[in-house]
Amino acid sequence: MSAASESPSAPKPVLIAGEWIAASGQAFESVNPATGRPNFLIAAASEAEVDQAVDSAWRAVRQAAWRDMLPHKRAAVLRAIADGMDRNADTLARLQMIENGKVWAECQAQVASASATFRYYAGVCETITAEVTPPRGNYLSMTQYEPYGVVAAITPWNSPMTMEAQKVAPALAAGNAVILKPSEVTSSPALELGRIALQAGLPPGILNVVTGLGATVGKRLVEHPGVRMVSFTGGTGSGRAIARAAADKLMPVALELGGKSPHIVFADADQDAAVDGVIGGIFEGSGQSCVAGSRLYVQRAIATAFIERLVARAGQLKVDLPDARGAQMGPIASFAHREKIEGMVGTALQEGAQVLLGGRRPDTEALAAGAFYLPTILGGLRRDAHVVREEIFGPVLCVLPFDDEDDLVDQANDSAYGLAAGIWTADYRRAWRVARRLEAGSVWINTYKQLSIATPFGGFKESGIGREKGLTGIRLYQQSKGIYWGL
Ligand code: NAD
Repeated sequence: MSAASESPSAPKPVLIAGEWIAASGQAFESVNPATGRPNFLIAAASEAEVDQAVDSAWRAVRQAAWRDMLPHKRAAVLRAIADGMDRNADTLARLQMIENGKVWAECQAQVASASATFRYYAGVCETITAEVTPPRGNYLSMTQYEPYGVVAAITPWNSPMTMEAQKVAPALAAGNAVILKPSEVTSSPALELGRIALQAGLPPGILNVVTGLGATVGKRLVEHPGVRMVSFTGGTGSGRAIARAAADKLMPVALELGGKSPHIVFADADQDAAVDGVIGGIFEGSGQSCVAGSRLYVQRAIATAFIERLVARAGQLKVDLPDARGAQMGPIASFAHREKIEGMVGTALQEGAQVLLGGRRPDTEALAAGAFYLPTILGGLRRDAHVVREEIFGPVLCVLPFDDEDDLVDQANDSAYGLAAGIWTADYRRAWRVARRLEAGSVWINTYKQLSIATPFGGFKESGIGREKGLTGIRLYQQSKGIYWGL
């Protein structure tokens, strides 16, 4: 079966060994969260089909066509994949938009970012070097980097294309075969990536795409003895389950997990810029971002005035259908996730929170069938309130005051998570001091959510293990080997 020949009513097939296979697990629906209407049926792989994908990946990775391909040739394949993504940019962006509801401009930007990631790792692949190490005798000693063989990439629904590129591109650059398991909410962009990669000349079996649920397909992949490394992005609970399974196999894992990032505004900050930064930091993508700045700490001297400006500006955000002109916030990615957000806001109210903005669904008729939720700002919170401690992964900002630097650092670090943080201040010495004291894998100073593929990314504490992106991003998918050559 070819991807092109699929019928719209049949479940989308999975990609194993370069073939499109009608998987035999229980198919499920992909639903457009902006309208509530079904998009497609997605096939779920059975355990036997996951095993087949792992076998095919091992067969492919052992063949000279991939194993002995010189780095500059591998780089050329990665660039051809990037070109294919650019040529199919509208298709990819649309698939993401109808599956997770992100606004069109963000979907387009994410395709561009994903193809740029393939180009970056093409460059890394053909330029990164092995090392000659200082000998202590009459020999030549070297460190070489070898692929693991077969690795699994498991991804979430909020930014599927960028997360998938961030794993698949370096894992291929490193010389592995990959089995990609996308989120059940956003299966289609990954299947499209599989099609583009095949067309770009990637040998069959080097990238397999198996769709299905985490509890079945994801679990089987993680536990499979033939999978030598897992790169996972998703919730901290799922990450913990994967780490446990990996411990049994003594298998390395990279875990990019949840966050509850503090966004900090000192009294001397440029307040216009800070208001924009705080709003983008939480409401872009309807708050469904691992690095969302969801805890706002404002220095007490400016708190009342700053929060008033923030509420006024956030109230003007255009919540609309994702392809509507000027839409700034689309729906929540699924109806079930909106319910979870509503439940958490309900708990906050029981704990005494004040709703400064939103806290409900929009009442616009045109949005009634979708999973929309208004930008929400909560005040009057205690620092141990559930919404201050737990990741909501939605458009909900918790606002808390602070007195001085020590109080701020104490509150900001009082979290199980440590993914990111933002600081707004005119005092560069303070910015440096606070940035160094914050327990977070990324810190932004007078900006927020800037991300470069060249800069390693990952979490402190329960936000994860390992660093993706940058040169460390390719090493994540390799193991070093010392070679001693007697002279
Ligand atoms: P999730 O953990 O429910 O699912 C992520 C992926 O893991 C899906 O493909 C799912 O099918 C699979 N999965 C779930 N349980 C599994 C298991 N036991 N074994 C193997 N696979 C399993 O997360 P989600 O709801 O899709 O995404 C939201 C979460 O992802 C949030 O917590 C968010 O913070 C996090 N996230 C983190 C980053 C980061 O870089 N740190 C980026 C984006 C999202």
